[in-house]
Amino acid sequence: MAIPPRILVVEDEAALVTLLRYNLEREGFAVSEAGDGEEALIRAKEEAPDLVILDWMLPVLSGIEVCRRLRRDPQTRAVPILILTARGEEADKVRGFNCGADDYVTKPFSPAELIARIRALLRRANARATAEQLSFADLTMDLAAHRVYRGRREVRLGPTEFRLLHYLMQNPGRVFSREQLLDAVWGRDVFVEARTVDVHIRRLRKALNSAGESDLIRTVRSAGYALDRPAGSSAAR
Ligand code: CA
Repeated sequence: MAIPPRILVVEDEAALVTLLRYNLEREGFAVSEAGDGEEALIRAKEEAPDLVILDWMLPVLSGIEVCRRLRRDPQTRAVPILILTARGEEADKVRGFNCGADDYVTKPFSPAELIARIRALLRRANARATAEQLSFADLTMDLAAHRVYRGRREVRLGPTEFRLLHYLMQNPGRVFSREQLLDAVWGRDVFVEARTVDVHIRRLRKALNSAGESDLIRTVRSAGYALDRPAGSSAAR
């Protein structure tokens, strides 16, 4: 069974929290709560929710301030935010979008409409995340954040190693000659010796395997390099 998307409900009115939780859980979402703006920021960082429902009028920190801070923090920058506002506060809506909210719903709201909007936001966020991510075996490359992970471990790469791995990850299993890699990663107009590729492959390997992981880069004698599952690995390609 798929992991249910987690929704953080930031709302100080207990009755509304109960109503939201009831409707969201009935739709299969996992729900967590924050009763004020500060708690919202802490939970958003700790729990990495898939979406935040954010009330506009909150104690301690206003919804708009929470929204701004979520957008400023790299960890929560991409989370979809749906703002709840009181009826008819048009100025709030405009400010809500300006602070980086993705959508808003006016109170009192129809639960069915709220759920439909949540699903639409989650679909959009998923499509975006997929487009900005490459993966192979236990390697993940997050193109938006410019980060690489081996399992849960973050791998630190120099800019050339990053581009090299990016190219290999776009074409897993394919063998590239040094010349092909030079053209693709360094560019045709740059004069670099073919041996330079070996140097950067070595650095890339070292970074990828620094915690003793299996080697995902296959050296094909006199042909070049490929990103591949290590020989003897039983995992299906
Ligand atoms: Ca409120």
